[in-house]
Amino acid sequence: MNQFTAGKHHDLLIDGQRVPAASGRYFETRDPSTEEVIALVAEADAADVDAAVRSARAAFEGTWGQMRPADRGLALLRLAEFVRRDQEELVELESLDSGKPVSAVRRQDLPAVIDTLIYYAGWADKISGQVIPARTDALTYTVREPMGVVGAIIPWNFPLMIGMWKIAPALACGCTVVLKPAELTPLTALKIGELALEAGIPAGVLNVVPGFGKTAGQAIVDHPDIDKVTFTGSPGVWRQILQGAAGNLKRVTLELGGKSANVIFPDADLDSAVKAAGSGIFFNTGQVCSAGSRILAHRSIYDEVVERLVARAQGVRLGDPRDSGTSMGPLISGTQMERVLNYIEIGRNEGARIAVGGARHGDRGYYVAPTVFAGVEHEMRISQEEIFGPVAAVIPFEDEDDAVRLANGTSYSLAAGVWSADITLGHRMTRRLKAGTVWVNTYGPTDVRLPWGGMRDSGYGREHGDIAIENFTEPKVVWINTGR
Ligand code: NAP
Ligand code: MG
Repeated sequence: MNQFTAGKHHDLLIDGQRVPAASGRYFETRDPSTEEVIALVAEADAADVDAAVRSARAAFEGTWGQMRPADRGLALLRLAEFVRRDQEELVELESLDSGKPVSAVRRQDLPAVIDTLIYYAGWADKISGQVIPARTDALTYTVREPMGVVGAIIPWNFPLMIGMWKIAPALACGCTVVLKPAELTPLTALKIGELALEAGIPAGVLNVVPGFGKTAGQAIVDHPDIDKVTFTGSPGVWRQILQGAAGNLKRVTLELGGKSANVIFPDADLDSAVKAAGSGIFFNTGQVCSAGSRILAHRSIYDEVVERLVARAQGVRLGDPRDSGTSMGPLISGTQMERVLNYIEIGRNEGARIAVGGARHGDRGYYVAPTVFAGVEHEMRISQEEIFGPVAAVIPFEDEDDAVRLANGTSYSLAAGVWSADITLGHRMTRRLKAGTVWVNTYGPTDVRLPWGGMRDSGYGREHGDIAIENFTEPKVVWINTGR
């Protein structure tokens, strides 16, 4: 078993030190594949968040703020090197804590974490303003200054990757961070915090305060000395975040949920389309904000799409996440399993037909069989609400206008997919679909160089690329009177 984890107590990481919570409390974190407790983790609350914010403020004013930008970039590159050095330990730890298959973490999450670090390391000394010749009697220009102390609150579905999507750009900009991982998956965030210290990132630049959303998370949101909150999580929480942030007018970025449509036209390459539709909903056990949870199939190919999706579901290998042959792990928790099973029951009661799956798998671990609902109508709850599990709703459409109406007909706008051999139709659909990302003849890839996020219930603002640099900096105008 993992050296970092096995049976240990894990303390908070504040000001470069591992410290117990002020309350002395610890909470359990479990392996979702066995339901067994794997470690005890110090439970931060408002007092610990406050200590972390003080440390982050001191590092912002001191060591980190005064470091040459190129040296900040080098520190991020060193962190990338240490992540690479310890990648097997990180893969194992992430899998143990979250139930994600090691094969997926190794193939997807770890390379994305390293890529994100390298990409933003390159930004650190390239964050510039503009000379804007507004007047003849002054030299006028802008500089971009770091916002200050950032509170980062992240979910459990991609703890390492989503954590790094926030840490790397914030640090590149010269900000310091108080990171709260989800209490279900606190372990890899602590390990990253230790690696950051080893990489020469000074104490206080990255503090890690595991704890619960209602206490530690809310304390971050409410803290008067935090300048920016970057949040990824469920749509149910954004109001509390915005209300807390209003106290001192914190800057806020929100990445929330989705009910994304994957639209398959009759001229599509069905092999590729259904393969991608299957992984679009079953990858990470459906616990993906951009999961293609609504598969819209043209009426003329509807039955065939359902049949082929059933075959894909039957090909999914559920099992021990540590087994490299496993393609799908458990859900994150008993609560999530109950939630997903409850949605399956709702779908049944609404009159949709279960083409495959529809039940818990086994009796140990939070496994739910990959499930495909056919005969789904647009108004049903399983077609409108985010389930966050391996449950596909396959919905027929009549023509292009109908597909657009259905695809855009939820409260979300995160992502969408289109499958067609007709390039004109593909392009037109990219304009007609309301989403932060539209994929054509593929489903699901992301890249840290491209803006990520959505509108309406899917979020506020974007992450990634140069937008993340704007997210963590403020423009300052300098106006120098030159006379006449
Ligand atoms: P969640 O319950 O909203 O939790 C997200 C984080 O917020 C956790 O760290 C949580 O703490 C914390 N939190 C909860 N209540 C809070 C409060 N009042 N104040 C401050 N922080 C609070 O979401 P989740 O169930 O972990 O994650 C699943 C959701 O994330 C899905 O809806 C999914 O669509 C979304 N997601 C979106 C993206 C994207 O990029 N758009 C990516 C991934 C996931 P605790 O859980 O520890 O209590
Ligand atoms: Mg866990």
